[in-house]
Amino acid sequence: MPRHIRMPDTGEKIRVEGDRLVVPDQPVVGYVEGDGIGPDITRACLRIWDAAVEKAYGGKRKIHWCEIYLGEKAASLYDGQYFPQEALEAFEEVIVSIKGPLTTPVGGGFRSLNVALRQDLDLYACVRPVRHYSGVPSPLKHPGKVDVVIFRENTEDVYCGIEFKSGTEENEKLARFLREEMGADFFEGAGLGIKPISEFGTKRLVRKAIQYAVDHGRESVTLVHKGNIMKFTEGAFRSWGYEVARDEFGDVTITEEQLYNEYKGKQPEGKIVIKDRIADIMFQMMLLRPEEFDVLATMNLNGDYLSDAIAAEVGGVGIAPGANMSDHVAVFEATHGTAPKYANLDKVNPGSLLFSGVMMLEYMGWQEAADLITLAYPELITDGVVTYDFARQITGATEVKTSEFADALIERMRGGIDLEAKRKQQQEQLVKERRQREIRRLLEPMEEMIATGKVPTAVSDLMTRSLITVRDEETVEVAMHAMADNDVNSVVVEPDDSGQWGILTKRDIVTKIVNGGRNPSTTRVADIATRPVMSVPPETTIREAANILSANQFSRLTIEQGGRVIGMVTEDDIFQTVEKFGWSVE
Ligand code: NAP
Repeated sequence: MPRHIRMPDTGEKIRVEGDRLVVPDQPVVGYVEGDGIGPDITRACLRIWDAAVEKAYGGKRKIHWCEIYLGEKAASLYDGQYFPQEALEAFEEVIVSIKGPLTTPVGGGFRSLNVALRQDLDLYACVRPVRHYSGVPSPLKHPGKVDVVIFRENTEDVYCGIEFKSGTEENEKLARFLREEMGADFFEGAGLGIKPISEFGTKRLVRKAIQYAVDHGRESVTLVHKGNIMKFTEGAFRSWGYEVARDEFGDVTITEEQLYNEYKGKQPEGKIVIKDRIADIMFQMMLLRPEEFDVLATMNLNGDYLSDAIAAEVGGVGIAPGANMSDHVAVFEATHGTAPKYANLDKVNPGSLLFSGVMMLEYMGWQEAADLITLAYPELITDGVVTYDFARQITGATEVKTSEFADALIERMRGGIDLEAKRKQQQEQLVKERRQREIRRLLEPMEEMIATGKVPTAVSDLMTRSLITVRDEETVEVAMHAMADNDVNSVVVEPDDSGQWGILTKRDIVTKIVNGGRNPSTTRVADIATRPVMSVPPETTIREAANILSANQFSRLTIEQGGRVIGMVTEDDIFQTVEKFGWSVE
């Protein structure tokens, strides 16, 4: 077998010491150019990554690239071999590499090169961070709320290839065994496939996902599964996932049930919440409430669907990055294909490969270089400097070639990005968003019901417990700030001299302040609050509450116990309960 891969004469190998990746300042990193559009995007990205490293570390650090051959380029060098053994050895030797897309040769007898790479290097986790960059066209109203990292198991599930074609001898043998010895019942002539999900495979994937959440200060890890139907495969994934969290990360994780039962919905500092969601609801949640998810751990098939669906929410697979990882060896890769019709036209978007490189720099611990790219990129898109795919979605954009996009990005990075200021800004934004999520969790009783698996029956099950209260003598302006800061539609007004509680709503601001021609900074809360409020005891059933609301044309009730208002229920809470849990007419 001829040898073509040459380790660079300069640079030092990345190594593993104990459990740790040791990255020297002059590391050797592998790259595969890829087929089709691969050379165009790889050429552009190599220049961008090098420029980011140069700018971030002033020449102290530099990547020494080692080209590894796979796909069509390999076939031309290795006498028709698309996946030479030498390449496999090189990936293991350099530990960190990045690859462009590869053509899967059509015809019998070829394994997909990507599948082969994953299997042969045991790259068991497919990692896909999905977030929005401002300016990138998206079908969502608020794509900025999407910021998740998906850990998809890469080696098990129905992708194992244990399948038996209908009508074959093997199929009939297995069908007979299942019917006669296992009591299974299914249609005659069915094709059969096996879905192995193991404790080992699940735990190493979930372990990696939780470790990532720990290392990157993420708030939660969600186990995605369909365990309600496939109990011993998908259900087992859920159970083993919780086991890893409890047994190996017990000091830094809590379950969602604990969050509500022990911590009253307030996430303790430094703890990651482990939760689980049924796969189908996850697709809905990622559209309606994406901000509630952070790190996702999934099995192979669910993860395959979910990765592309979530990527589409923020601009499509054209810019979604990815990596396939084992414990240490990692191959970062563009997630799109070779788009052969655009090959060598210097036309396509380098975004997917570019951000896979950003992931790679982060994996190497070179955060500053990664940040430079991440911060410069949206500036360029917002200015409308984009490749053809975005240009057709952004009015007035300037369409540039792949190489010109790289030039512009490099110029932007060199032109001075104030990393410190941008980081501070991002940090502040993060803190603000966390606080908003926290408030919502505290105020939305439905979250608790879903998390703890209960079904609401009385108003105490759906009432908002953490009420925002104001005093009578405060100005309306103060009350308005309290509503805005806490993201609520109403505040409870503390009892007046006669001991009666009151309520002040956003609607009151519209009707009694704006429409009523009053000044919020001089009007007192007592002047416009509604009193008395309609109160019911906590054990009131949902139906009784609905009766009271409709008979009196109210939109909210306060819940009183021992002369104190302890919660509130609105029409909206009842609506959400019925929407989430259904309603049976007795
Ligand atoms: P594809 O190569 O991803 O291309 C499909 C379409 O996606 C393109 O026609 C283009 O859309 C858009 N697109 C893809 N990459 C883009 C980029 N960088 N910038 C802008 N637009 C981009 O999918 P395919 O045509 O199904 O597959 C072609 C070959 O790639 C096959 O041999 C397949 O096996 C292989 N493949 C490899 C990988 C991998 O190596 N990881 C992954 C998937 C597929 P418009 O036509 O609308 O402009």
